[in-house]
Amino acid sequence: MAKILEIRVIRARPGGSWAIVKVLTDQPGLWGIGSANDVHHGDTVTTAIEQVIGPRLVGLDAAQIEDIWQSVYTAAYWRNGSILNTALGAIDMALWDIKGKEAGLPLYQLLGGKCRDAVPCYGHASGRDLEALVDDVQRWLEEGFPVVRCQLGAYGGGGFLAADSVSRPIDGREMDSVFDDEAYLENVPKMFEFLRERLGFGPKLTHDVHEHLKPHNAVTLSKLLEPYRLYFLEDVLPPEQIDWFRLIRAQCTTPQAIGELFVNPHEYVPLISERLIDYIRVRVSKAGGITPCRKIAALCEFFGVQTAFQEGGDNDPVNQAAAMHLDLASTSFGIQEENQFSDAERDAFPGAAVLEGGYLYPNDSPGLGVDIDEVKAVALRRDSDPSGTAQDRRADGSVVRP
Ligand code: MG
Repeated sequence: MAKILEIRVIRARPGGSWAIVKVLTDQPGLWGIGSANDVHHGDTVTTAIEQVIGPRLVGLDAAQIEDIWQSVYTAAYWRNGSILNTALGAIDMALWDIKGKEAGLPLYQLLGGKCRDAVPCYGHASGRDLEALVDDVQRWLEEGFPVVRCQLGAYGGGGFLAADSVSRPIDGREMDSVFDDEAYLENVPKMFEFLRERLGFGPKLTHDVHEHLKPHNAVTLSKLLEPYRLYFLEDVLPPEQIDWFRLIRAQCTTPQAIGELFVNPHEYVPLISERLIDYIRVRVSKAGGITPCRKIAALCEFFGVQTAFQEGGDNDPVNQAAAMHLDLASTSFGIQEENQFSDAERDAFPGAAVLEGGYLYPNDSPGLGVDIDEVKAVALRRDSDPSGTAQDRRADGSVVRP
């Protein structure tokens, strides 16, 4: 029996946004790692792990993952917040890593074994104009990615108007551009009309709205995009407005993906059990780790919903590995968001999953299969302010909810 000896956090990347938990045991050389990555609140999550939750777990049997998960979850009394969920999720990943090492098996074997040969991923294409976008989509397709996300630039792209071209308040705040729902409704369907004309209906394409639209416009966009047969439309509503999925479902067949902002089962369970969405996109660490996410995947299987665990630019190789093992062993898996790392970052995380030709491949090492070289990881840290809040605004100066 391996007992938990110490739990600490190693910080990497600008602002220390990669917060990697290391759970050490009383067995020499036996430890596990997990991701507590938070680009906005890395210090808060680290404090929760190192000063609050970690010390309470010292001396417990590291093998009793379910019991530790349930006791930490309910010990907070107030639960399902993003900070404590992330802290718990990281420790949970590390405990599964330890269990795999003790068993001498990769994590996907503990979860039931592979039910696919590798994990298909979607790539992120964007362009400032349609020609640049179609070139980028083709680049991802040629690389082998079976699904490609298509965006007109960054968050909210397609919905921005030059600030000096619209009616604005006298002495309104300084802005170069403003977000406008109607511009978005005009430009994004045109983008897919163009892409389908140029690429046909073979390529599987998605689009991420980044929750920018007012709810009734989310319904309208879903309907307008129906003829272009998306693989899925992502984050068309913010978490506060998910009841609107009932109206979307009643009016069109555009497949819906959401969940990267979810932390609470009350958000995702009704959407899955009422078949109001097609893909659930929680980030493994934010949902509380492998323990709840394997239950989400099992729930999805019974209702025909698929998983598309969130990754993307601010994620790390440890969270990616956790998602990959779940993907490999789950029959309700749909698609995995891709993430790529620099050579220096891969050096700091030996055993990181290999992404090649649009597919993610595990190694056969026990546990998560990825480790951390602490010296190299710490060398990746740079001082910088944590990412601020999103500041896209409408013409009247009000914030667009991301
Ligand atoms: Mg998204």
